[in-house]
Formats: sequence, structure tokens, C-alpha cells
Amino acid sequence: MPFPALPAALADVRRRIAAAAARGGHGQSVTIIAVTKSFGPGAPAAAYEAGLADVGENKVQEALDKMARVTVPVRWHLIGHLQRNKVKFTDPFVLVHGMDSARLADALHAHGVSRGKPVPALLQVNVTGEATKGGYTPPDIAAEARRLRALDGLHVGGVMTMAPFDAPEPVLRAAFGGAREARSRLADAGLPATELSMGMSGDFEIAVEEGATMVRLGTILFGTRG
Ligand SMILES: *Cc1c(COP(=O)(O)O)cnc(C)c1O
Repeated sequence: MPFPALPAALADVRRRIAAAAARGGHGQSVTIIAVTKSFGPGAPAAAYEAGLADVGENKVQEALDKMARVTVPVRWHLIGHLQRNKVKFTDPFVLVHGMDSARLADALHAHGVSRGKPVPALLQVNVTGEATKGGYTPPDIAAEARRLRALDGLHVGGVMTMAPFDAPEPVLRAAFGGAREARSRLADAGLPATELSMGMSGDFEIAVEEGATMVRLGTILFGTRG
């Protein structure tokens, strides 16, 4: 079977998540999303075999191609940037993590209305203001949350963030804590915001300490991408 190291890696990750959740004291449960981008259909299959039911892909077309070749019943998450002209391709995904602008929110809402079912999405927040990353900036969130409430083609279930890569711990904590704050602003506005998608292979323990309910893990489970 491909990915022979996966079961042991997953067991280790699960232990570290449990310990981090206990340290953090937020009392949340944490879903592991196995990030299978750039790997073939054997990766979702191996994830499912190992006990993971959630898979993440960052590109729509790559994900759709893979879905056609994967027979195990995993839930597919779209974790990358989504172009507005591709909102119609989101139907096979259980969650769009990267709703990173008002214009994309409007496009997803319009798609949800036209298909008669709200699109489940997370609002992406760029807490540290990195120019290379998309997302709402924290000061914009309260007003956008009030606007989103009126968009009934959307189900805004929480917040997603990506912390700066390899940053020192205080910077990571500020990024993840800022995302948690953003989720509170959404909830204050009456949105059903319960999820916090944050934490990757290099920073998931800090993310879980700061309240992550979903971690998106690739390298630590499957090894380095080619
Ligand atoms: C690739 C990717 C991940 C996983 O990254 P790893 O460091 O391999 O765990 C998580 N989130 C997003 C948005 C990604 O694109």
C-alpha cells in the first residue's frame, strides 16, 4: 500500500492534538483534514484506510480530477483560493475554506441561490496583513459579517486562516488568536460561525492551543510533496 508511514504518523499527530487541546483549554474537538494536493488518488484512499474521513485540496480542477478516481467516501474540502468564475464547481465540496473577499462571497451566494441550497463556506482572515496571502483584514470583519447575514445563498460556518510560514511562536499565536476573534465577530452578527480552520504541519499544535476545530495537514501525514 502507498504511504506506509501514514498510520504511525497519524497516531502521533492525534496524540499531539489531544495534548495541545488540553493545554489550550478551549474544549473544542478537532477534525484532521488530510491535505492530498499534488498526490495521486492513492493519498485520499490511504487517508480513508487510516481512519480519516476529510480530505483537502487547494485547486478545483485537480480536486475534481482526483474525485473521479477515488472510490472511498471521503468528504472533500476546498482549502485554496477560489476564482469567482469557478463557484459553480464547488458543489462536490462539503466546505469552501477560502472565502477571501466580498466579491467572492457575493458570487458564492449567487450560486447558492441558483442551486437552491446555501454554499457552506469559511471566511478567510489575513490577520498579520501579509501581502502574499488573501483574506479579509480584521477591521473589515464586523461590517462584512452584518452584510453576509443578508446573503441567504451562503452558510458562513466560521473562519479560516493561514499563519505566516515558519514565524516565531508569538506571531503564530497572534495570527491564530486573531482568527478566533474574527469568529467571535461573525457570531456577534448572528452568523452560525463555530469552526476555526487553522494549523498546518509546522504549526498545528499552536493552532489547536488557540482553539482550532479543523487542522489542515499534508506533509506531516504524507511526506514531502514532489
Ligand atoms: C498545502 C496546504 C496545507 C497543508 O500544508 P502542510 O504544511 O503540508 O501540512 C494546509 N492549508 C492550505 C491552504 C494548503 O494549501
